[in-house]
Amino acid sequence: MYAQVIVDIVHENVAHTFTYLIPEGLTLAPGQRVLVPFGPRRLEGIVLSLTETCDLPPEKVRPVAEALEPYPAVLPALIDLAARMAEEAHCPLAETLRLMLPAEMRGGRVRVKEEPVARLAIPAEELEAAIGAQGRSVKRRTLLQLLQGGAWRPVAELAMLVRDPQAPLRQLQEAGLVELGSRELLRRPGGELRADVIDPPLMDAQREALEALIPAVDAGEGRFLLHGVTGSGKTEVFIRLVRHVLAMGKGAMILVPEIALTPQMVGWFRSRFGEVAAVLHSRLSAGERFDEWRRIRRGDARVVIGARSAVFAPVERLGLIVVDEEHETTYQSDRHPRYDARDVAAWRCEREGGTLLLASATPSILSFSRAREGRYRLLEMPTRVMDRPLPEVEVVDMRRELILGNRSVFSDSLQKALRQCVARGEQAMLLMNHRGYNSFVSCRSCGYVVKCRQCDVSMTYHVGGADNRLHCHYCGATEMPPETCPQCGSRYIRYFGAGTQKVEEELRRMFPDTGIVRMDIDTTSGKDGHAKLLDEFRSGRARLLVGTQMIAKGLDFPRVTLVGVIAADLSLNLPDYRARERTFQLLTQVAGRAGRGDTPGQVIIQTYKPDDPTIRSAAAQDYRAFYGQEITHRRMGLYPPFTVMARLLVEAKLPGDAQRTAEELSEALDALLGTEKELGKCVLLRTLDQPSVKLLRGKHRWHILMKLWAGDAAETLCARLNDLARAHTGRADVYFEYNPVTMM
Ligand code: ADP
Ligand code: ZN
Ligand code: ZN
Repeated sequence: MYAQVIVDIVHENVAHTFTYLIPEGLTLAPGQRVLVPFGPRRLEGIVLSLTETCDLPPEKVRPVAEALEPYPAVLPALIDLAARMAEEAHCPLAETLRLMLPAEMRGGRVRVKEEPVARLAIPAEELEAAIGAQGRSVKRRTLLQLLQGGAWRPVAELAMLVRDPQAPLRQLQEAGLVELGSRELLRRPGGELRADVIDPPLMDAQREALEALIPAVDAGEGRFLLHGVTGSGKTEVFIRLVRHVLAMGKGAMILVPEIALTPQMVGWFRSRFGEVAAVLHSRLSAGERFDEWRRIRRGDARVVIGARSAVFAPVERLGLIVVDEEHETTYQSDRHPRYDARDVAAWRCEREGGTLLLASATPSILSFSRAREGRYRLLEMPTRVMDRPLPEVEVVDMRRELILGNRSVFSDSLQKALRQCVARGEQAMLLMNHRGYNSFVSCRSCGYVVKCRQCDVSMTYHVGGADNRLHCHYCGATEMPPETCPQCGSRYIRYFGAGTQKVEEELRRMFPDTGIVRMDIDTTSGKDGHAKLLDEFRSGRARLLVGTQMIAKGLDFPRVTLVGVIAADLSLNLPDYRARERTFQLLTQVAGRAGRGDTPGQVIIQTYKPDDPTIRSAAAQDYRAFYGQEITHRRMGLYPPFTVMARLLVEAKLPGDAQRTAEELSEALDALLGTEKELGKCVLLRTLDQPSVKLLRGKHRWHILMKLWAGDAAETLCARLNDLARAHTGRADVYFEYNPVTMM
């Protein structure tokens, strides 16, 4: 027998499989990791297939050195997935196969921690006699009693009840009464492990959604988009559905944005599914991730809750993938090989016979338009559970506040509402989607704005005790603020705009005796930073929570009755065709945090554009109205889903290298479109230019930005562009981006 092996090196010349002889006594299956001789070295590889014969002369075929595990690390369905992704991304299979394995499994043999265990070596009927035969040894008698169930028990656990159990255990082993062994030790990430929470009775809308979903799950098919307003109880629908899938003997995955994988959410799933649930997120250590992966691979865990990359989890007999908050951009990976977890989820469901369920209170324009075309079946949950009302929303015109002489970050209305909320003993959340103290620093005499030396973006002033500095939010560089203008020497340096730190400071001035928590990247960096702050708020020790968009998502705090949005225009003004979509999502999601308990909620949105249709529809929490406006914008402006945005991005240390490379690429593109005239027809727009961020992390940037009519020609052209980018070598880096998350 021969094995076709894909060797784990990413190189254009070794992008195919190699044939190896399977030595006598070794059995291999596709997906298994092996060590193989490769030139003078030994390399890791993955068996793709087995063959009986081989075209090569026998002396040319070398044998497989060894198998790294006794089981296939990559499931057949995931091999297919990797092959398909490699084809789409035009990259070597070895590269996409890496996505299927946890980081700890790369680079050869994995050292697995083991723990000593013990169990009874005699039938239960003989136990009493054996205990009786132990004479005066209390330790041996107790140990036998502890082992009475017959299962393996960790010696460490026995040691908690019998001090130093090793010697008596050995004596029992010698007498043939106890068997000693060792077993893989799996670290369990924290979280409750009870599966004893009682299911609440379902609301009508939840039941209707399930009635549509369950037959599809039974049939192992279907793609759904669940549009349910905030607080409509989508999670309960997922839970019931997962239960159903488990009862069928199948497995399920629930993908959530990284940021929503709060300890609250994780604990919640654990409490409903216990040991059957595995959790994968970036705050786990590599070892913990690996252990969770093995629990899934063995089939001990059949429900996976995780962020983007969990979509590659080795769940067998997959019956369901839920993508919660499907509108989140974090489902798109921007590292190579790029993928969109929603597409991967759709492929897996199709290939493995599962049901796909996308869910959101604010579906992406793309997904909702697909549902309108009938590519997804649309399910709606238009009301909150227990008939709780959606919160009342007030839009405050900040231009008027300025005219009335209010220079605080809080409008009159918001100040009043905050005072009342605190006086009633309730909680409030304030969204300020910019961290730091001031948003930028500028010279009043000449207009100079302090920018990062590494990046072409303005720096943000942060206060940090004695260490007040300017920070770059792109690369993390910091600097002392200038005392005089570096351009004109003037001393009129002013600090403009506000960030979370300033909002927090003003709040502390208004409420000196009230607990206040600030949540942004600066305060949540540590391993449990996130959890500690949320706990502070949940327990009620803090009443006011200030934060960036990380507070807008997925949190469920029943005592929050007031939500304030300090500056709704921040995201609306970004130079991106999705700025309206992102703003609508952010405002609706954060507004949805109010009034989730028994007391109705109130929301105040502060803006300089109170009549903007996006702000209006968000205030009305009217997704349909927003969708109607937005799809018209997209059609008139020729933006996705009607078109595809594509770009070749060039980055180089020297500005000349970046520009020259971009020009060369543009010429190559001319040549390509000259020979393949059909492809040229889908090009609507093509520019060679510097992006709005001309310098990033010390690299100069150029791009070729293209707008293409959506369709087969656009897909083919994108594949060619990707090839162009990958084939490029030289002093500049070239990236191809398909509908990039940001075009700055
Ligand atoms: P969504 O994700 O749709 O915003 P959640 O799933 O967070 O909403 O549910 C909102 C709240 O309603 C949660 O506190 C949840 O425990 C509660 N809930 C959900 N379904 C029910 C039900 N059938 N009966 C009572 N409470 C429910
Ligand atoms: Zn100046
Ligand atoms: Zn920078």
